[in-house]
Amino acid sequence: MPEDIPFDRSFDLPPGRVEEVAPGVRRLLADNPSPFTFKGTVSYIVGRGRVAIIDPGPDDERHVAALLEAVRGETVTHVFVTHTHRDHSPAAAAVKAATGAVTVGEGPHRAARPLHVGEATRLEASADTAFRPDIVLPDGEAVSDSGWSLEGVATPGHTANHMGFALAGTPLLFCGDHVMAWSTPVVAPPDGAMSDYMASLRKLAQRPEDLYFPGHGGAVRDAPAFVAAYIRHREGREAAILHRLEKGAADIPTLVRAIYIGLDPRLVSAAGLSVLAHLEDLVARGAVATDGPASVTGTYRLVSG
Ligand SMILES: [Zn+2]
Repeated sequence: MPEDIPFDRSFDLPPGRVEEVAPGVRRLLADNPSPFTFKGTVSYIVGRGRVAIIDPGPDDERHVAALLEAVRGETVTHVFVTHTHRDHSPAAAAVKAATGAVTVGEGPHRAARPLHVGEATRLEASADTAFRPDIVLPDGEAVSDSGWSLEGVATPGHTANHMGFALAGTPLLFCGDHVMAWSTPVVAPPDGAMSDYMASLRKLAQRPEDLYFPGHGGAVRDAPAFVAAYIRHREGREAAILHRLEKGAADIPTLVRAIYIGLDPRLVSAAGLSVLAHLEDLVARGAVATDGPASVTGTYRLVSG
């Protein structure tokens, strides 16, 4: 599949260095690089004096120490969490213990749909089920302190509890893993849901913010156009699945081989889950059929119209 998204993989912030990326916004990289996290998780510090931290990151003593050092002499009033994956939320507990900050998020971790009989949460190792926000922030409501106000923008899809935060009075959105400049995120059932993910992209495309700070990698510039490219990319992947199924029924490994050319072997199972996410959506819309609930082991066929 040709690269149809204007990716920007330039990002050379070393772990542990604090960098001001916009007026009143600092960022700090955790040292947890991987095929899923790119160079690592990016934590943000918003404000001066009385500050908010967004996505404190993994349970990593060195990163927590670097965050606390970055805000030495300041008061951390709130810790915002975009979603409960283990590279984003676990350090909230240590930051809260050290600073007395109040945690803010959409809610605890949950699956996007009930589990099927016999189905395990496939990426359960990636979920932080311990995080419980002190403030459960409804979509569209804001938390403010001196000099900043962050509005919750519910963006389910990557996880059911994914939430971005828009910084009032600026064109900035902290978008977690929903949109990233270097790659598309994994949308893996049952944590994630493609129908939710697409609806959240369309929601962002209508918003005024044009500069996004994601949980991994550098800023997303000209964000509405970038989000439109993301939407076209996912629609293209859906079309590729349907195109392959026109040739006959197929299972998920067959679809992954047909659609993802030159895929990093470490990402094959995640790609399978992304294809499952599309198939769940297609089955729900009546375009594709399978026996029983859509699952990773199922065989899929077109519903002839
Ligand atoms: Zn994530």
